[in-house]
Amino acid sequence: MKVDISNFADDENIEFKSSNNAQSLDLETQDIKFRGDIEIVGFLRRNSDVLFASLKVFLPFRLTCSRCLSDYDFDLERPVEFDRVIAKNDFIIDLGQDLRTEIILDYPANPVCSEDCKGLCVNCGENLNEGKCKCK
Ligand SMILES: [Zn+2]
Ligand SMILES: [Zn+2]
Repeated sequence: MKVDISNFADDENIEFKSSNNAQSLDLETQDIKFRGDIEIVGFLRRNSDVLFASLKVFLPFRLTCSRCLSDYDFDLERPVEFDRVIAKNDFIIDLGQDLRTEIILDYPANPVCSEDCKGLCVNCGENLNEGKCKCK
């Protein structure tokens, strides 16, 4: 996610808005996919050699339930803030890595489609949310 900071005045909040696909930010994992773009809004502020980002990130997840292995949709909107040191001649900086680090920090570890998901039968693998299996 490249940002041109050449016109950023010191201590001025610059409005920022961006849509990024999850692949370009390398946000997808085995269990965590996205249904659409990651929307990012907020502001950036430069203070000589530091760039401060205060953003809100909208994450349209498609998760795989760790109990029943079904995919389900889950939307999350969360604030992301970070500082980034800028080198003297950096006019275009890539915030992708900073964002990624912040976002994956609180990925759901064991996502469940619902608190009372019954999961799969350990014997036959039937999805018990869809009814009882034939195991005794
Ligand atoms: Zn489930
Ligand atoms: Zn069964």
